Amino acid sequence: MKCELISVGTELLVGDTLNTNVHYLSKELSLLGISVCYHTTVGDNPKRLEEVMKIALQRSDLIITTGGLGPTQDDLTKEVISKLFGKNLVQDDKVKEDLLQYFVNREFVMTDNNLKQTLVPENATVLTNPRGTAPGIMIQENGKTVILLPGPPREMIGMFEGSVLKLINKQQDQLVVSRYYNLSDIGESAAEDRLLDLIDVQDNPTIATYAKMGEVLVRITANGKDVKVVNALLDKYEAIMIERFGENIFAFSKDSLCEAVGKLLMEKNVTIATAESCTGGLIASELTKQPGISKVFGFGIVSYSNEAKKKILHVKEDTLDTFGAVSTETAREMCENLQKISDADLNVSVTGIAGPDGGSEEKPVGLVYIGLNYKGNTQVIQCHFKGDRKIIQQKTANKVFHLIRQSIVDKME
Ligand code: AMP
Ligand code: MG
Repeated sequence: MKCELISVGTELLVGDTLNTNVHYLSKELSLLGISVCYHTTVGDNPKRLEEVMKIALQRSDLIITTGGLGPTQDDLTKEVISKLFGKNLVQDDKVKEDLLQYFVNREFVMTDNNLKQTLVPENATVLTNPRGTAPGIMIQENGKTVILLPGPPREMIGMFEGSVLKLINKQQDQLVVSRYYNLSDIGESAAEDRLLDLIDVQDNPTIATYAKMGEVLVRITANGKDVKVVNALLDKYEAIMIERFGENIFAFSKDSLCEAVGKLLMEKNVTIATAESCTGGLIASELTKQPGISKVFGFGIVSYSNEAKKKILHVKEDTLDTFGAVSTETAREMCENLQKISDADLNVSVTGIAGPDGGSEEKPVGLVYIGLNYKGNTQVIQCHFKGDRKIIQQKTANKVFHLIRQSIVDKME
């Protein structure tokens, strides 16, 4: 089956928006064993869109478009494709009901142009969009399948995972299932290297790695005629993953390191407090993105200046004068004094030089001390991070989450 992706949107052609949809879909479809043979990008121009659709219908069996499904005048994908298939656009009552509810739930006033989204080509399959207003559409005729998805990546991904995957599975008459393993404290190339023998001969399952700052997500995808066959393949690879990565696996899911740590803290009922200097509250902010975290996180201080470190955290003036704000001693006092204030089980402190200014030969940009006090023990770790200010801050936060996880897991053993 030959697949073609058509990205619709003038913003993509003029370089205002990076075409991340095509990147996502290509990777997902390839992992499903579908050959993506063409990528086409076209502006919001009905004539040119019709042209590229005609070409695609001649050379491809599965065509997936993204963009141009919204309520505004320049959103024309549905109209052009309906015309090409000789189909009228008719109102879909269920889509209208969902749309009205969407606005009621958000207490937004709906403008009339939104009603355009309730029109669908006759006899087409409607794909619900849980994250937005424009539904997706699937047309199957003369051995060709055309799937229309909205442009906003969040909506497009939600619909791909929610409905398109199932439709493709059904069409291929087989089950495709993925398992995820998220790793920390290892780079993507090192992770891939440990899997190279399997990647080199991969067929079923397939393996893909995705690198994010401080994390490597490994996805293993298997296909087969039923759950039993697929699970047997995945179980075999899971054993290999555990054998080769062990402690590096912090989540058997797509959870980020911070999400995994948040869940661990909640699950083990370990209360936590933070005292941050160079990260300016980033660690607290990441923690509070997680629902339910108030159960264990009640306390975060941003002690940026020396004054704040002295006044709020009672770091001794002598310590600051003798060793400096960025030092093992300051990090230690910050987290030990934080423990006295917060009474939390686990107390973390961070002090460092995020740059670009403020570094010296002795204390260069990227030097960070992390203090961690847990169950009466304090450890201070010296780190040297490379990168710009934002990267140094994010790497610091990641390292903190890694250390928190390690401390809790070690104490459990
Ligand atoms: P549309 O569905 O055409 O109204 O697109 C809505 C928004 O989705 C656009 O303004 C873009 O920001 C985004 N978008 C559309 N197509 C893509 C794409 N291929 N990759 C990334 N973002 C996109
Ligand atoms: Mg558009």
